[in-house]
Amino acid sequence: MTLPTTEAVDIAIVGGGLVGASLACALMPLIERHGLSVAVIEASPILDLAAAPWQPSFDARASAISLGTALHFTEMGVWPTIAEQATAIRRIHVSERGHFGATRLDAQELGVEALGHVVPNAWLGRVLHQHLTGLPLAWHCPDRVETIEPTAKGYHLGLASGTNLQARLTVLADGGRSGLKERLGIASDVRSYDQVALIASVEVSRFHQGVAWERFTREGPIALLPLQGQTMELVWTHVAGDERRRLSLSQGDFLAELQTAFGDRAGRFRRVGSRHAYPLSLVTARETTRPGLAVMGNAAHSLHPVAGQGFNLALRGVMDLVTSLEAGLAHGRSVGDTEVLEAFEVRRAGDRHSVTRFSDGLIRLFGIDSRLLGHARAAGLVGLNLAGPLRRALARRAMGLER
Ligand SMILES: Cc1cc2nc3c(=O)[nH]c(=O)nc-3n(C[C@H](O)[C@H](O)[C@H](O)COP(=O)(O)OP(=O)(O)OC[C@H]3O[C@@H](n4cnc5c(N)ncnc54)[C@H](O)[C@@H]3O)c2cc1C
Repeated sequence: MTLPTTEAVDIAIVGGGLVGASLACALMPLIERHGLSVAVIEASPILDLAAAPWQPSFDARASAISLGTALHFTEMGVWPTIAEQATAIRRIHVSERGHFGATRLDAQELGVEALGHVVPNAWLGRVLHQHLTGLPLAWHCPDRVETIEPTAKGYHLGLASGTNLQARLTVLADGGRSGLKERLGIASDVRSYDQVALIASVEVSRFHQGVAWERFTREGPIALLPLQGQTMELVWTHVAGDERRRLSLSQGDFLAELQTAFGDRAGRFRRVGSRHAYPLSLVTARETTRPGLAVMGNAAHSLHPVAGQGFNLALRGVMDLVTSLEAGLAHGRSVGDTEVLEAFEVRRAGDRHSVTRFSDGLIRLFGIDSRLLGHARAAGLVGLNLAGPLRRALARRAMGLER
């Protein structure tokens, strides 16, 4: 009988989703400069990228990515390809149904070409995975990390295929749903919003001109993000349970209800792709680092998508981790070193806290149906439109240039 062998690696990334794949790409300079060995383990099978033509599926989810994120992707060398399917956000229009007042953030006025971009997730994933296949790292896909045990030198990972890995640094980027975090005794604070985001692509009767709409209604916020052509990504927040009826409406009835809820400002809604529901909660892991371990992306924090900040925040985490590891390596420290990871946690805590408060605060501010509050909020929106410095601060956050 042959005993299973254990492969030693410097860094094991559990999960090759948006965050894990981005981290693997961002680690490239460290792999080159310090000869680090990196393994990525991803449970879902990835298509044969070279052979499969990209189909911009009508029901795909899309993400608003900030200018800061685009800059990080540029550093990784993937932005030119991502940009092929990215739509620039030239203006953001925020308003509240039934109340006077709106605020607009305008790229031209702020002296930038775009406030951010909207990119189909399928395209982001494809570009990142395609890039990864050319990098000197071990890509275990499809495979699944089933066991995780701390050892004197880091963590031991047992994969479904029978492969065993011993990593100095293990990064949990598994989206937080695999149970691995819990098996390590890392608890999370979970607060359900009792809301569900209904996502779909919609076709509008007139060109969106790069405008992103955020409309707060009594039922919850409706966001429309510009995509290529006359298509927009709809994120329609519902009180949990209410989305079920809308998921099963005919196309015509759904479009009519959307038109009533949103109004005519973006034009007439003409077509809707398949609809998907995402239950929303605020999840914050109580620990994000331990010696030899970092928890990142949705596994560390899952936010309300109202402000489109989740992935942008996670990518700043990715870049901070790389910077902290680089600084540690320059001082002869291991990638799993306690002090290196503590320094990383110190860099991250403030950003994570303020973005979480910002997204959660927006939901609380617009979440209560009170007439009085409504007027106060409307006044706030009008005021925001007038108050240049405050609006510029909001814009800098939306662009991912503010922490
Ligand atoms: C409706 C909605 C809209 C959003 N819009 C935006 C937006 O506009 N802008 C923005 O910045 N953010 C947005 N977000 C947030 C963004 O989607 C998340 O931040 C991002 O998807 C997190 O990526 P992740 O890689 O951490 O997790 P995931 O995308 O969940 O990836 C985790 C990966 O790990 C793999 N995996 C799981 N368990 C294992 C295991 N045991 N072994 C191996 N692999 C495993 C999975 O197969 C998966 O590929 C939105 C979120 C929602 C719900």
